[in-house]
Amino acid sequence: MRTLPHPSAHPAPVPAPEAVRLAAALAAATDAYARRNPRSAEMAAAAARHLPGGSTRSSIWYAPFPLRMVRGEDCRLFDADGHEYVDFLGEFSAGIYGHSAAAVREAITGALAEGLSLSAHNRWEGRLASLICERFASIDLVRFTNSGTEANLLAIAAAQGATGRRRVLVFEGGYHGSVLSFLPGGAGIRVPHDFVIGRYNDVEGGRALIGQHAADLAAILVEPMQGSAGCIPGSVEFLASLRQGADAAGAALIFDEVQTSRLSSGGLQGRLGITADLTTLGKYFGGGLAFGCFGGRRSIMERFDPRRPDGLAHAGTFNNNTLTMAAGAAALSTLLTPGALEELNRRGDSLRAAMMTLFERLDAPLGVTGLGSLMNIHPNVPAAAMGDARKLLFFALLEAGIYTAARGFIALSLPITDVHTARLLGALERFVHDFGPAMRL
Ligand code: PLP
Repeated sequence: MRTLPHPSAHPAPVPAPEAVRLAAALAAATDAYARRNPRSAEMAAAAARHLPGGSTRSSIWYAPFPLRMVRGEDCRLFDADGHEYVDFLGEFSAGIYGHSAAAVREAITGALAEGLSLSAHNRWEGRLASLICERFASIDLVRFTNSGTEANLLAIAAAQGATGRRRVLVFEGGYHGSVLSFLPGGAGIRVPHDFVIGRYNDVEGGRALIGQHAADLAAILVEPMQGSAGCIPGSVEFLASLRQGADAAGAALIFDEVQTSRLSSGGLQGRLGITADLTTLGKYFGGGLAFGCFGGRRSIMERFDPRRPDGLAHAGTFNNNTLTMAAGAAALSTLLTPGALEELNRRGDSLRAAMMTLFERLDAPLGVTGLGSLMNIHPNVPAAAMGDARKLLFFALLEAGIYTAARGFIALSLPITDVHTARLLGALERFVHDFGPAMRL
């Protein structure tokens, strides 16, 4: 029989009083959240009978149960218990058009009227491809996929096909899709490529790794701003050094612009003046429907030309699905104009500046990072308390009618105005007033 240690043999560490205060504030906020959302709780429990934990998407799950949204309008969301929120998450940036853009709805209903699933090439895919190629100086040819994950998998395959090499340099904190995550912690599932993992924004370290692996390196895959890691912009020096390194090694530089492509009409690479060999896109380019795309230099992409006897095959039942193709073409030509993007990013820059001023004025234990319309609010607390502090902020914002990602990520959508951003700033001020003391650790 196993003998249990005497309880006093390993006394539990005594948490600091500040940590107890934060944990108590979070426990009260979690309790209030659960009481406010009984219908969401019921729906989560019912879903858990057939979906593991009631979820089919890790990024939107949080304890004790995530909200069930039932409707969206412009930049507003309505949950199953009748609460209304300003949607500052914008479907992790895919919802840039808001929930009811007329141009997108008309394109979808128009395509539907012509018949679903045409089992052939259709009139939309060439149009959407031309609109994307026009915007990105580095994209001569594109192929469509169904997600950003798939786009990155195919871009890696294209680089491997072009170079005849296998190895791929990626960076800690990078997120390129569900099976291409390099975020710390968690038990991710990763495709078994020959990865070398460098440190983001480490110019010398990156150079050294490229030099060391040059002969085997097929690709360098990088987000010009790391999104899931917390909106950490890549320095120009770092990204330019990857460009030089890729040239020297004969490897393909792949910019994952699934999120950052919204930062100018030619993507973040257009703003930085750094040209990628291959670029991956996703999210809003399909009008808000399931979408992904990889494209780039003709010399690499033309290997997918089916007229070539040695053409690379890339099939996919829904690669050119009419609804996404029609919605994407309509959204790009009428809503996601260079002027609209400029205005959206200007609004994001002003919001971040206003947050920084607010946090400074209140001496708040909060910070914000990002570029343009993409940003992440960060509690300034020790790493051990980060999870609790983020959650407390998230629940407090929900109670104030503000919807963000649980990790503090915000992606502005086109219908968001100064009225909405003022409401967020007001909610943050109240949060600092109510919970700032609990977060001073
Ligand atoms: N790459 C980046 C930078 C992303 O942010 C994401 C999704 O958030 C992906 C790739 C994966 O896209 P998807 O979720 O469409 O597979």
